[in-house]
Amino acid sequence: MEGDQRSGPPAQSLLPDGHLVLWTLCSVLLPVFITLWCSLQRSRRQLHRRDIFRKSKHCWRDTDLFSHPTYCCVCAQHILQGAFCDCCGLRVDEGCLKKVDKRFPCKEIMLKNDKAADAMPHHWIRGNVPLCSYCVFCRQQCGSQPKLCDYRCIWCQKTVHDECMRGSLRSEKCDFGEFRNLIIPPSYLTSINQMRKDKNTNYEGLASKFGKQWTPLIILANSRSGTNMGEGLLGEFKILLNPVQVFDVTKTPPIKALQLCTLLPYYSVRVLVCGGDGTVGWVLDAIDEMKIKGQEKYIPEVAVLPLGTGNDLSNTLGWGTGYAGEIPVAQVLRNVMEADGIKLDRWKVQVTNKGYYNLRKPKEFTMNNYFSVGPDALMALNFHAHREKAPSLFSSRILNKVCWIK
Ligand SMILES: [Zn+2]
Ligand SMILES: [Zn+2]
Ligand SMILES: [Zn+2]
Ligand SMILES: [Zn+2]
Repeated sequence: MEGDQRSGPPAQSLLPDGHLVLWTLCSVLLPVFITLWCSLQRSRRQLHRRDIFRKSKHCWRDTDLFSHPTYCCVCAQHILQGAFCDCCGLRVDEGCLKKVDKRFPCKEIMLKNDKAADAMPHHWIRGNVPLCSYCVFCRQQCGSQPKLCDYRCIWCQKTVHDECMRGSLRSEKCDFGEFRNLIIPPSYLTSINQMRKDKNTNYEGLASKFGKQWTPLIILANSRSGTNMGEGLLGEFKILLNPVQVFDVTKTPPIKALQLCTLLPYYSVRVLVCGGDGTVGWVLDAIDEMKIKGQEKYIPEVAVLPLGTGNDLSNTLGWGTGYAGEIPVAQVLRNVMEADGIKLDRWKVQVTNKGYYNLRKPKEFTMNNYFSVGPDALMALNFHAHREKAPSLFSSRILNKVCWIK
């Protein structure tokens, strides 16, 4: 009995303590479990989405927030987040992703059917037309209603109201719109493909039907330049041109991308390099290599859209010191169309050791020779010296600009 009385009080005091420990454990562990479960679900969803992206014919990119009022092309609901195609501009929510491929084809870089080559009709997609676009039929504003409405041709960028769309517009031949002189039409590539199969390389006759004003443009953009601005630009150019003529130089080196010039008419191609002086230098080196290969007649004219910090060469050539989206991409293309060509003085410099026992290999550099005097030359020199000392401090463009101004 005595023993029972003695063991009574500790058992009573243990019970509340046990509850306390249990509750504390629950309150700590439960949120941890919930967080873990949520992140597991999220990563599973991401994997599933990536799998759909890989199998899809569209070039999907995720976004957490669309910048304009957006409607899903499948279910027509208003959506805040989802995916958009970098080539044709379709927008979709996550739930409808799987259905898009079956319903809507993407921009075809080459026609499947050779017979259809001469009469490629418009490729209309419905909804999310750009703000401030006008109907080709009634000339009134398009896409102003808050719903999935109106059409845009993904090649010529013409827009038309739902109620103005008619059979004649659906079957009309697409003229590729304002940038027809820069676009490589899918029909051209289809014919080239056929000619290569027939071992006929006389492409000049084929190009003659596009006229002398046809100066196809190849975009070489560095997706890492300008704090990843290059990536967004790649998408915008793919929407306005044929995606086949838009390259990310971090994935396809310039020398490989420039081989597209050999399928186009002589002395007609222009290249727009989007990046800093480093990227421009890389492209110019690739062009030098084309000369060595004996591809001189295919050498393109080079225009620059400056994205990095070191844009001295671009500034000297009249393309400005840096692009941060001040003008729309369409205006950039207009500027390229209107630009005049000038020759750039490029030197190959070989540096050899003067010593008697000269064991080191001579180093070879390429030099772009342009003239700059006064404060900007001094600033460039100082900036370069600072960057050489501490490269890690110069990774951000804004910070670089501040250092440049200093
Ligand atoms: Zn949907
Ligand atoms: Zn697409
Ligand atoms: Zn069209
Ligand atoms: Zn209309």
